[in-house]
Amino acid sequence: MLFFVNIILGISFLNAQELFTESYTLMGSAFELTVVAHDKAEAQAHIATAKHEIERIELLISSWDSNSETSSINQNAGIKPVKVSKELWDLIDRSQQISKITSGAFDLTFAAVDQIWKFDGSETVMPDADLIKASVSKIGYNQVQLNKEQSTVFLPQKGMKIGFGAIGKGYAADRAKQMLEARGVVGGIINASGDMNTWGTQPDGSPWTIGIVNPMNKEKVFSWFSLEHKAVVTSGNYEKFIRIDGKRYSHIIDPRTGIPSNGIISCTIFASKAELADALATATFVMGVESGLFLIDQLPNTEAILIDDKGIIHRSKNIQIEKN
Ligand code: ADP
Ligand code: MG
Repeated sequence: MLFFVNIILGISFLNAQELFTESYTLMGSAFELTVVAHDKAEAQAHIATAKHEIERIELLISSWDSNSETSSINQNAGIKPVKVSKELWDLIDRSQQISKITSGAFDLTFAAVDQIWKFDGSETVMPDADLIKASVSKIGYNQVQLNKEQSTVFLPQKGMKIGFGAIGKGYAADRAKQMLEARGVVGGIINASGDMNTWGTQPDGSPWTIGIVNPMNKEKVFSWFSLEHKAVVTSGNYEKFIRIDGKRYSHIIDPRTGIPSNGIISCTIFASKAELADALATATFVMGVESGLFLIDQLPNTEAILIDDKGIIHRSKNIQIEKN
């Protein structure tokens, strides 16, 4: 009997896996890549592959690298359609679908106004109304011309621009997760500055858990959730905002007005993919509490927790908040 127990312990010792984490600055944000692995060398090889993949995506969607496919689309706005890789074309196509379901609250072409607003706190007066108005005329996801056969993207007006700030990190987190799963990594977390994507479980078999904090009371986690094969994304970057006449504006632009949205200070979305969660978090910010939750309640496997500018917590229908 004793012998039998020893054998079982021996096997479980051989299979024991641990957590390994590496941190990097990728896509201009802090990324933390965590994997379950047998040893450090194995973990590092996995993490290096995921890091590579995120860097590759960064080059594809970057607006600041003038050689990226995205920059080429922007440089040719009002001039000609640009042939892009299937991967970028598909990402833009999926973004367009999200624009449709959010009635344009999420819109890649918001970027036409991103020169007007400075989200480092230096802006203290409203930018010129005519300038905003002129830029808004260049926003509109339904103006974007996509040709699937040719794999081209055309922004028909000069000055139109697309930007992936609200979906790129989510997409990268999904791809990194897929890649690690394909390599046989049994569990992990991709944390892209608070955009979390998880799979599998912790080494002891228990689910990953995440605590949600009210930005008005940062010390205290107000609810814990277990996450299995799920993404959770929070929009509401506390470092990036503008204060004009005592009013605080987020770095998320309402595409209808060209003006940053206000009213919601934090929006957390749970979904099966980080890409969708990322885009919906941004969209819900723009849509506001009522319309935002109405939309989330229609979508399968998607939940939300919103915190408004009075610190009040709102949640979608099927989410349980465990008070601690
Ligand atoms: P976070 O910075 O917390 O990750 P988001 O994921 O919501 O927040 O992304 C905000 C970014 O999305 C902005 O910095 C900007 O690049 C872009 N963005 C702003 N407004 C919109 C919008 N209405 N639709 C799509 N993208 C937007
Ligand atoms: Mg987002």
